[in-house]
Amino acid sequence: MGRVVSITFDDGLARGAAASAEILERYGMPGVFYVVTGWVEPMRAPIRDDANMGRSHGDWNFWRRIATAGHEVGSHTFSHFKAGGLKAALTPWRVAREIARSQQDLQREIPAQSHTISMPWNAASPLSDRLVRRAYSACRVGGGDVQYNRLSQLRPYALRSWAPGPRHDWGDYVAAIEAMPQDGWLILGFHSLEDEGWEPISANRLDQLCTWLRDNNIEVATVRDVVARTKLSCAP
Ligand SMILES: [Zn+2]
Repeated sequence: MGRVVSITFDDGLARGAAASAEILERYGMPGVFYVVTGWVEPMRAPIRDDANMGRSHGDWNFWRRIATAGHEVGSHTFSHFKAGGLKAALTPWRVAREIARSQQDLQREIPAQSHTISMPWNAASPLSDRLVRRAYSACRVGGGDVQYNRLSQLRPYALRSWAPGPRHDWGDYVAAIEAMPQDGWLILGFHSLEDEGWEPISANRLDQLCTWLRDNNIEVATVRDVVARTKLSCAP
């Protein structure tokens, strides 16, 4: 197994998730949606960042439909908490609550064998790492540069991803995927489509990406599935 791509979306913005899921489903490809569980309606956590304020983050029926259609719904913490830095270091109980509570929300609303998490603000600490290992099967951290995961030596709690932004053109996407090693796994980290969320991509760009992946026979899989398969194949 190798040369796999995962297409992930952070923050759980509902309009973009619905549109992205529809595009992906046309190609029979699964997406991964990392939701801030406290932002799912009825909201239990305040929204303080501009990219998410005033936007719908769906309700659990919405996310259950996404999961039932074959996509992965994972955690992006309970309140978009920054698990690294001084504030987190001073409030270790909050780090614990953020990680555990969002896992409990997912297990209650969208039960699954396992869930995966992506860390908001790409922030982690030794404490958050220890807690994440207890509650999730994998953890995605972000990155501005193209980085691949190696399936032959996978580190499921330090999964690298690449977040293409407005400064990247189509050639950058193709170059990143073509340069993927034989046992490589590229996790793409997006937020939403068109004018929603942090550095959104256009619906056309997502469609173009799906077409290219299909035409080049590159497998698209969820983070949970790639990690589960890799663990199985490594088992004695
Ligand atoms: Zn986020």
